[in-house]
Amino acid sequence: MTRQQPTQEQLHQWDCRHVWHPFTQMAEYEPLVIQKAYGCTLVDLEGREYLDGVSSLWCNVHGHRHPAIDEAIRRQLDQVAHVTSLGLSNPTTIELAARLAEIAPSGLSHVFFSDDGATAVEVALKMAFQYWRQCERPRPEKTQYIALGNAYHGDTLGGVSVGGVERFHAMFRPLLFDVLRLPTPNPYRPPEGVSSEELLDHCLGRLETLLEERHEQIAAMVVEPLVQGAAGMIMHPPGYLRGIRELTREYNVLLIADEVAVGFGRTGRMFACEHEQVAPDLLCLAKGITGGYLPLAATLATDEIHRAFLGDYAEGKTFFHGHTYGGNPLGAAAALATLDIFEHERTLEAIQPKIARLGEHLARIARLPEVGDARQRGLIGAVELVRDKATREPFAWEAKRGIRVCRRALDHGVWIRPLGNVLVIMPPLCVSTSQLDRICEAVEEGIQATAS
Ligand SMILES: *Cc1c(COP(=O)(O)O)cnc(C)c1O
Repeated sequence: MTRQQPTQEQLHQWDCRHVWHPFTQMAEYEPLVIQKAYGCTLVDLEGREYLDGVSSLWCNVHGHRHPAIDEAIRRQLDQVAHVTSLGLSNPTTIELAARLAEIAPSGLSHVFFSDDGATAVEVALKMAFQYWRQCERPRPEKTQYIALGNAYHGDTLGGVSVGGVERFHAMFRPLLFDVLRLPTPNPYRPPEGVSSEELLDHCLGRLETLLEERHEQIAAMVVEPLVQGAAGMIMHPPGYLRGIRELTREYNVLLIADEVAVGFGRTGRMFACEHEQVAPDLLCLAKGITGGYLPLAATLATDEIHRAFLGDYAEGKTFFHGHTYGGNPLGAAAALATLDIFEHERTLEAIQPKIARLGEHLARIARLPEVGDARQRGLIGAVELVRDKATREPFAWEAKRGIRVCRRALDHGVWIRPLGNVLVIMPPLCVSTSQLDRICEAVEEGIQATAS
């Protein structure tokens, strides 16, 4: 029995009536329904095409409907769609674990699979906590976490606890555990009384003071390496990541690197940690891991951490955490194909000229009167709009300054999604130079056309 195809009107109606979209005010929601996609192009119900300027929310890597990923998933479908990881295994998931351990920063040889970025972080937080209770010389008093201002680590309650984006997280404060919060290393908006030049030393100094006083109680520090995504693509000063790695090691505090957004080539290297030769104790991966195809995430841990969970069954050292679909073979197949493409298409080499091109566009956009800062790390571009360029006064959030630019870009066939007053340019890594030009030009034109 085949069901009748719903009409476009029905789809729009049902979308508004029945689908509750995340991070979306449903009272103002206007449907844009994507029926299909290819490469960097999204196609709506009427066949209108849009360039995907934010990689379907930061996760698409090699483009939509890449033949190699499509084929890998089809091949896996002919084997099995899902095998639980609780007590069972399957070849595809095993192979992916080995591949991840091979390419990850050194020492991260144990892979715990889950489904999304938030759970990858949740797992890391719980592993760190349990580690200190079970390691060779247990330190059960180490129960606290350090996190950065404006941090974003996903929307489960553990992730929200270490998160620090006021607008998203303040409401839930009564439900959350306390976290030791450090200033955001934001070169464009440094803490009061601190110059951009002093920022690095100031932030590392604050960490050192905190560790000196409290390291006995601290289990781990969690950080988004190099770029704080949801905060508005805040880009840390060079040396910050390296600095926190050295300090956390010195004070016997675990480092959790949340590479959910920056992993898989986004910053110009496979992992952001590589830029500063950093190996964290726990590494969280999601978003780009399947090329943006399927929900899959991984938390990688060192031997040292893994060992603390080994023991006699009766000792109860097991990591009592898991998700029904963790390590799903279809997702693992997509992930393996994604890693293969990095090799076959030499993606990390191929993006270097695009990174340079994005830089040229941003330098031009930076000169617009309402652009306070135009910043870049790899293929992440961010344009921060301000009411007053001299004082850096932001637009009121209600002014929807970013949203207005994105609406305008949509009319020009470019889909982007802002973070408040920050416009994000983050196309799939496979974007062509001319597509990148069109995205950046739409952003530039949008800013000018909607200027007050
Ligand atoms: C998106 C994101 C998450 C959450 O990932 P989900 O898959 O949306 O749960 C966590 N950390 C960072 C840095 C992210 O950008």
